[in-house]
Amino acid sequence: MSYDYDLFVLGAGSGGVRASRISAQYGARVAVAEDTYLGGTCVNVGCVPKKLFVYGSHFSEDFQDAGAYGWNVAAESFEWARLRDNKSKEIERLNGIYASLLDNAGVDRKWGTARIVDPHTVAIGDETFSTDKILIATGSWPFVPEFPGSEHVITSNEAFYLDELPKRAVVVGGGYIAVEFAGIFAGLGVEVDLVYRGPLFLRSFDRGVREFVRNELADKNINLRFDTTIEAITLRDQTRILELNSGDQLEADLVLYATGRRPRTDGLGLADVGVDVSGTGAVVVDDYFQTSVANIYAIGDVIDRMQLTPVAIAEGMCIANNLFTDNPPKNISYENIATAVFCQPNIGTVGPTEEQAVELYPQLQVFESAFRPMKHTMTGRGERTLMKLLVNGVDDKVVAAHMVGPDAGEIIQGLAIAIGAGVTKSQFDLTIGIHPTAAEEFVTMRSPRAQA
Ligand code: NDP
Repeated sequence: MSYDYDLFVLGAGSGGVRASRISAQYGARVAVAEDTYLGGTCVNVGCVPKKLFVYGSHFSEDFQDAGAYGWNVAAESFEWARLRDNKSKEIERLNGIYASLLDNAGVDRKWGTARIVDPHTVAIGDETFSTDKILIATGSWPFVPEFPGSEHVITSNEAFYLDELPKRAVVVGGGYIAVEFAGIFAGLGVEVDLVYRGPLFLRSFDRGVREFVRNELADKNINLRFDTTIEAITLRDQTRILELNSGDQLEADLVLYATGRRPRTDGLGLADVGVDVSGTGAVVVDDYFQTSVANIYAIGDVIDRMQLTPVAIAEGMCIANNLFTDNPPKNISYENIATAVFCQPNIGTVGPTEEQAVELYPQLQVFESAFRPMKHTMTGRGERTLMKLLVNGVDDKVVAAHMVGPDAGEIIQGLAIAIGAGVTKSQFDLTIGIHPTAAEEFVTMRSPRAQA
């Protein structure tokens, strides 16, 4: 039977665009439907604008530090609208690039909310399209718990388009987005409280990293409130009054909830067509991204394995390969995926935490160094850098690297290649450092420290 398309992709985010383009390059007839923005979360309300805001916010420290290097500069004022609008212009440019990438690959772009009618039919409004295969790549959406006054909070989606910068902001959550936005706001001069329900934020990260980041953020005047929950929020004029579990009240002009992102499956018609969804709302797939319906596949945040752009892209590459080439089917190893958190200073990490590694490798050796970056020997700024290497004492393999410090993501990316290739600590020791850099510390740590 002949269909309108070989592949119909729902969602033109990082994963959907990559799967569409590469499938089309392999000769498939492909359509992709999008109802919000081309490029998905990463390009529009995630990685890209976030990093631009991080750059913007860091200038406040750079201006202060410049004096020690002989520059007479002062940050006279900051204009939020200029940063926001320049960022939005850059995002629009990227939207255009995504459109051309799809057009040049011969992918049909469809604007509107797509719904799966049956395993071979997708509808957008009144229009229907027949297709051999369907790929769900609809991503995720910020989750806000319901409580009295939860309508007075915003999520990261809105934070990128604020009319005005608040004077006082409360950021709720203890994950990537919470620490990144706390840093952005603080750098831009906003008074920030970071409210986290547990005793220490960044729960899935190395304990030493978490404690180090806690101290660094506290030094940057971010008011950390751990073991704290918000019971209710009321509005007095434009001020948000937060009732805390301690009985205290907190006042803010803006409350940003960064309490996780949920797979976006509403309205797709998954139940009707028989696509299984897990308890957390994720589309259930096998190792090759096939759902419970044989010709329907899913990748990216909507399968909720690792909500990271490069992971969605890698999954998109696999799908294109598996569906439209004669190459052996590919899947993804989710081990040792490096990641960075753009709090200030940044976190870069690859491999297990020390707590996990001790269980996995009973003869674990921990090499650790904490120091003041060279730049701040002149500025007097108290910011410090942390580096950790975890080594399996049995075979000398380096199993993890963790860093907190400027450009940690840039440095850890290279180490992730080496660790993935099975590098040993002796090979680190044989590597001659690049001087003077912070990164050379990773090849000059000689003595393991005692286990914590
Ligand atoms: P995360 O899953 O990283 O963190 C969610 C945080 O919210 C956790 O601290 C969690 O606490 C807390 N939380 C969850 N539910 C509640 C609740 N009901 N009340 C109070 N607190 C709650 O989610 P984010 O929203 O920060 O980010 C979503 C994902 O996006 C990340 O996991 C990451 O994969 C991706 N991302 C990646 C970035 C990068 O690569 N730099 C940047 C931004 C996002 P607890 O720990 O106690 O469960």
